[in-house]
Amino acid sequence: MTHSLFDPDPYLQPIPKWEQAELTEFQIAQVVVNRPLDEPFDYLLPESLSPHLKAGMRVRIPFGRGDKLLIGYCVGIRHATSDDVHRRSRLKQVAEVLDTQPLMDEKMLELTRWIAERYLAGWGQVIEGVVPAGVKKNSGTRELTYYQLDEAHQQWTPEQLAKLPAKQRQLITILMQHDDWLTGVDLTSLADCGPGPIKTLLKKGWLTTQRQRQLKARDAQTYQRTPNLTLNPDQQRCLSSIVNAVHNRQHVTFLLHGATGSGKTEVYIQAIQAVTAVGKQAIVLVPEISLTPQTIRRFRSRFDEVAVLHSHLSDSERHHEWQRIFAGEVQVVVGARSAIFAPLPRLGLIIIDEEHETTFKQDSTPRYHARDVADRRAQVEQIPLVLGSATPSLEACYRAKHGHYQLLKMPKRIDGLILPRVDLVDTLNDPLINKHRHLIGRTMEQGIKHALEHDGQVILFFNLRGFTPVLWCPACREKLKCPHCDLSLTWHKDKGQLLCHTCNHATRPPEKCPYCHEGTLKHLGAGTQKLEEEVRSKFPAYRALRMDSDSMRQHGSHDEALELFRHGHVQILLGTQMISKGLDFPNVTFVGVIDTDSMLFQPDFRATERTFQLISQVAGRTGRSQKGGRVYVQTTSPDEPAIALAALHDFNGFVRQELIHRAEQMMPPSTSLARVICRGMDEHATLDYATLLAEALRKHLHLIVHDNELLPGEINPIRILGPCPPSIARMKQYFRFHLQITAPCVELIHRLWHASKADFPKPIGGIEHQIDIDAMSMR
Ligand code: ADP
Ligand code: ZN
Repeated sequence: MTHSLFDPDPYLQPIPKWEQAELTEFQIAQVVVNRPLDEPFDYLLPESLSPHLKAGMRVRIPFGRGDKLLIGYCVGIRHATSDDVHRRSRLKQVAEVLDTQPLMDEKMLELTRWIAERYLAGWGQVIEGVVPAGVKKNSGTRELTYYQLDEAHQQWTPEQLAKLPAKQRQLITILMQHDDWLTGVDLTSLADCGPGPIKTLLKKGWLTTQRQRQLKARDAQTYQRTPNLTLNPDQQRCLSSIVNAVHNRQHVTFLLHGATGSGKTEVYIQAIQAVTAVGKQAIVLVPEISLTPQTIRRFRSRFDEVAVLHSHLSDSERHHEWQRIFAGEVQVVVGARSAIFAPLPRLGLIIIDEEHETTFKQDSTPRYHARDVADRRAQVEQIPLVLGSATPSLEACYRAKHGHYQLLKMPKRIDGLILPRVDLVDTLNDPLINKHRHLIGRTMEQGIKHALEHDGQVILFFNLRGFTPVLWCPACREKLKCPHCDLSLTWHKDKGQLLCHTCNHATRPPEKCPYCHEGTLKHLGAGTQKLEEEVRSKFPAYRALRMDSDSMRQHGSHDEALELFRHGHVQILLGTQMISKGLDFPNVTFVGVIDTDSMLFQPDFRATERTFQLISQVAGRTGRSQKGGRVYVQTTSPDEPAIALAALHDFNGFVRQELIHRAEQMMPPSTSLARVICRGMDEHATLDYATLLAEALRKHLHLIVHDNELLPGEINPIRILGPCPPSIARMKQYFRFHLQITAPCVELIHRLWHASKADFPKPIGGIEHQIDIDAMSMR
């Protein structure tokens, strides 16, 4: 514990040296900090702090060579061993305990440790990411002063009281009648006085005070109760399996593969009722964009105590919900990805709806997948996990096929409704599209018209925001790119701006090409804004509404738009993925998929899977009443299996084929995939760095497999590809190179990583690397 007298760091605070007493009985606090470090650090726990510290609390500790004071999390406390006695003089000590109650219990600590190991992040980084900011900051709380009579002045005779002024007498009488502490507001209202008399009593030394944080009260909305629906035999069968596991305290992961409109939500709700009936609690995860008022109402109308955790909550709202959950007052938590960490004390069931959604994977440290965290949490708690989807991920299908998940099927829609007929419309020879650059071809136009004329509503899906995605110069043939990213700028006509969809860089469009200063820029391609314009001009008698992340920026606008559509004030709803899932509107009789090629031909091995899922999910928005529904899918590749099989609703056929294809490519789900991204401001230096990092990994490849050399001719089951530039080679000014590591299981990747670490190049010039275990994004 040395520090230079000349250390320029103004925050440096020297820590008093521990006296070298010959004590052998002392305690060690194990502390982690928000850094990418593997192991907790040992700190001496001073006797004065020992009664106040529990695992799961935050502490202030001197850290690093400068002994700068940092906030860390105490993850364990233990008695010193003989080894500790020897190094006692070298141990730093905990400077301060920052919490009065732990932020997480033992099980949650264990879960965060597992995440750190699984996703190769620092344990402290994981905890930092799990505890909401509002909780750490105590948002929405205020410190109140509470009053009671001082010990020496607790007993008053009537004679003594009679000598006091009326208000003071009243205050003392009230305090004598109350055993608990009272706030100033309590006292002034009970004694019907101002703050003056309280101050007087304080001055006389007759009162003691204590200050305590208290959450501000929040008013609760009431929801109308709705009765349970009578389940059909499929639903009943699935429910029984789940409820059995709940009652047997069994950890089973169910994959509930239910068609769109098969009534999965009703099964979730009745399963949760079985859980709350025995005093336990449940978590329901849904994708953020499915957290609509309808979804929330569905749960609030069945349960008394529902907490909703979504990204629009303010810090204090989130803190409030978190405290309610922590206190055990909540029956059901409904939320997006991070709600998997909701600190429910009596968890009995976890449900993940739309399990296939990629938003369940976090794309910043810790890069966890909520599905796998949920599986682990359910295993620790010995409770069932239900994964629901109409188009389960290949990962889930693979695990079901190999018996890790138990498959439950609900292939039929409610009320004998059938899945809609899906027609593929080959646009190769459509003159409107090819010659006149329309988005809606002839056949599609007729389909929409027919539906509208028969009082149906229409949903049009197009997965590209903005007006036109590319501006190019016919003179020099350059495309206009973001100055910070290797990406075309998208023209947003409504804002009059060119926008980068990665870093949000915004600029006005130049008059002339900025590269050759000669050509006038031309527009290429189209996005939802252009589609909106075309829809309005083609169907002027009907009202159209666009839903994408640009038009739905305001909180609540999403819900408003859906209400307009639900009540028929809008006939045509068009937009991006935002409109592709969950919506249950019986009057939608036509769904159009404008373009499949832009989805299918992405440089990502999951592009086919996503295309299949999107077509199936969008198609699932129609045919939800006796009016039926039709789906037209415009494509230039009607023979592509993902498209052809989606049109036939042949999920099993698609999965069978895609699993074989993936296995041939050595790609997930039969293998584990990790991606290493190196980034830096200097392109060559970054490439050099990535190359050295790849070399370090390759150097250890052979040692990992059998703990010794491979046999001659044996193929190493771990594969390292790269370094090479990803599809976005430059992002937010950083040049990027990535490596892909595939292996038969994630543990081999872990071993390779740990074995090679010491040989990684020293980061220079701000170059950094990140590893993404089970990477979902390849951009
Ligand atoms: P999914 O989530 O599988 O797409 P939903 O849960 O949205 O399906 O259900 C589709 C519709 O069917 C909803 O309007 C729902 O209220 C209704 N529904 C579900 N189960 C039943 C049932 N057993 N009897 C009648 N209607 C049901
Ligand atoms: Zn950019």
